[in-house]
Amino acid sequence: MILVFAELNNGSFKKASFEAIAYASQLAAKINTQVCALVLGETSDAASLSAYGAHKIIQVADARLNNVETKAYAKAIVHVASQENANVIVFSNNITAKAVAPRVAAKLKAGLVAGAISLPDVSNGFVVKKSVFAGKAFAFVQVSSNVKVISITPNSFPVQKAEVPTNVVPQTIEFAANDFAVKVDSVNKVSGIVPLSEAELVVSGGRGLKGPENWGILEDLGSSIGATLACSRPVADSHWRPHHEHVGQTGGTIRPNLYIAVGISGAIQHLAGVNSSKTIVVINKDPEAPFFKAADYGVLGDAFEILPKLTESFKKFKAAQNA
Ligand SMILES: Cc1cc2nc3c(=O)[nH]c(=O)nc-3n(C[C@H](O)[C@H](O)[C@H](O)COP(=O)(O)OP(=O)(O)OC[C@H]3O[C@@H](n4cnc5c(N)ncnc54)[C@H](O)[C@@H]3O)c2cc1C
Repeated sequence: MILVFAELNNGSFKKASFEAIAYASQLAAKINTQVCALVLGETSDAASLSAYGAHKIIQVADARLNNVETKAYAKAIVHVASQENANVIVFSNNITAKAVAPRVAAKLKAGLVAGAISLPDVSNGFVVKKSVFAGKAFAFVQVSSNVKVISITPNSFPVQKAEVPTNVVPQTIEFAANDFAVKVDSVNKVSGIVPLSEAELVVSGGRGLKGPENWGILEDLGSSIGATLACSRPVADSHWRPHHEHVGQTGGTIRPNLYIAVGISGAIQHLAGVNSSKTIVVINKDPEAPFFKAADYGVLGDAFEILPKLTESFKKFKAAQNA
């Protein structure tokens, strides 16, 4: 059995959970087994996972699991993995998995590959491909333990539908009081925007935009195509933009279909977080800017002249499509 942790966000599944189930479903077909999805927390959507290839869905609908609780999550996943005889456990490699997957692997004495980017090669053992050195190289990791834990890089594996008729099986786990070490008093959420980790379109600004008062032109560009905003580190360090928008070695790692970098030089530490983007467009007025070497498309010129024109063109294009 392959166990997939299908993470919830406010009672709804993250896109990354569907990716993880689709990944598990294709791996299951390769190694001739089935997929069990595990849902921790309350939702009425659990049954929807069968559309992505889960043969069995187990839900621990305990309200205490509605917020991420690493110790309790690890306990529940280990319990269900043992009960279902899971030999592979799949996560999406997000912030929750970074805290939970190593605990699960340690408890099950399992080998862990964090950040897989393709299906394992099972022709000779169990070899998982992952990016290393900030996306500059690939590692092929042979996992020889009986139980294997894999976390897949978000956006590296497409969501695929594969309807399997199944029911949701409710399950209770006996938790101890000290499994819940964190008390959440309040949660402030940014609404209406696709989070950076899940965004397919990202528009990002750097120090070339000169100051926070100029972010309006970047926001206009972003909203013309429905993109999420990001920024370079000095921009966040200078409090021009909030820290959750900072991408790179010390910020978020993203993998959108389109990354438009405006007024960003393309330092190696910035590239570390964005160079797995499928298409990179760089707008910079310096022909020597290192980012041009990593770009699929480069626009040489002043962002303050180019952005309004680009936004206008996107708007016209959209209007023509909707006409
Ligand atoms: C340990 C460490 C970790 C780091 N981690 C990160 C990280 O996670 N993320 C990150 O981003 N950085 C990180 N950095 C910083 C990184 O090295 C760079 O300093 C930073 O990325 C530069 O930001 P920038 O490109 O916005 O600014 P700059 O380097 O100042 O570049 C601004 C760019 O804007 C262009 N420009 C100026 N005016 C215009 C205009 N009108 N129109 C168009 N283009 C214009 C310029 O030609 C230039 O290329 C880290 C550094 C260290 C040492």
